[in-house]
Amino acid sequence: MDRLEHQLQQRRQQHRLRQLRPVQQRQPGRLLREDRDLLDFSANDYLGLSQHPRLREAAIKALQQWGTGSAASRLLSGTLALHRDLEEAVAAFKHKPAALVFNSGYQANVGLLSGLCDKGDIVLADRLSHASLLDGLVLSGARWHRFRHNDMGHLETLLKRHGAQWVITESVFSMDGDLAPLNDLVTLAKRHGARILVDEAHATGIFGNDGAGRVSELGLSDQVDLVMGTFSKALGSFGAYVACDAMLRDLLINLSRSFIYSTSLPPAVIAANQAALEVVHDEPQRRTRLLQLAADLRAALQQRHCEVVGESQIVPWVLGEDEAVVRVSGQLEERGLCVPAIRPPTVSPGQARLRISLSAAHSGTDLRTLLDAIDEVTHV
Ligand SMILES: *Cc1c(COP(=O)(O)O)cnc(C)c1O
Repeated sequence: MDRLEHQLQQRRQQHRLRQLRPVQQRQPGRLLREDRDLLDFSANDYLGLSQHPRLREAAIKALQQWGTGSAASRLLSGTLALHRDLEEAVAAFKHKPAALVFNSGYQANVGLLSGLCDKGDIVLADRLSHASLLDGLVLSGARWHRFRHNDMGHLETLLKRHGAQWVITESVFSMDGDLAPLNDLVTLAKRHGARILVDEAHATGIFGNDGAGRVSELGLSDQVDLVMGTFSKALGSFGAYVACDAMLRDLLINLSRSFIYSTSLPPAVIAANQAALEVVHDEPQRRTRLLQLAADLRAALQQRHCEVVGESQIVPWVLGEDEAVVRVSGQLEERGLCVPAIRPPTVSPGQARLRISLSAAHSGTDLRTLLDAIDEVTHV
């Protein structure tokens, strides 16, 4: 057997084979797959905006006016007035002087780091940083070290030992649902003269009075150099942005290859993103409700002695073994619930978990259905 086939077989044996399973229909909190209706606890559409009438109407209007494609990359003629307006809105939302839209969060992180860091630089990143951040570091050629997750003592040790040009973290961690100690991280990084990048993919739209994320909630907007986030999660659409000062924005336009060498996002997507920012402003009850649901679910799972971690709309239930999470995820699916099994390499070996992802569209009854099913599968 050759190496490629062997890799597949090995994954299969380790219960780590990843497979694609098409969804036939979806609404916030619900999906239809393999002709079965499932309550959906797998999506990142945290505020249920993907079907919001204002996003749909904005997208349809832009589609009718501009057509389907943007026709060029940003530096040719692909920067539309819609892109400019969206970037101004993002900068205001994030309390930063400027912003730049990227085609996806993955492309943003790869482009930011490969564009701004080079061989001579040292970068310190939280151990649980998203794959796109790590891929950007690899591409940059910079030397980098990972500090233990949220461990500011370890970050300080590494800063003293190696120095750093950049310190990188997420504000809400995607697979652990916990929050970075941003105040301490910013103090440490500044003391050692490092710039800071915070990925707010899972915080934007949810945290802070205005939904602008954790950096702004903690009053750190002036101190975090790059505040990155996506339109693809709580904002219910697609694409990403970085909010920063004008100098860093100019640098990115000139150096970020994932920005330069890709066709810009289509008008309908940009218009939906603009509408999403407006809905986040106008409908704060969505984020309040989401965080209340998450607190209720965490409390109920803790009562059942389940090992739950985090403090956000992402509620991970850590079971440990790969085989156990695959089994329980399957049993929940038989009971009409989609709760994905997260296994290595996405999390460390022995840390396999069910990632319960909540939406403002879930009802109290949906939560009870989930808890009843969990009771059934844990008492057999
Ligand atoms: C999802 C995610 C990304 C990538 O964003 P996409 O728009 O889906 O490409 C980047 N960083 C983090 C932390 C994420 O969770």
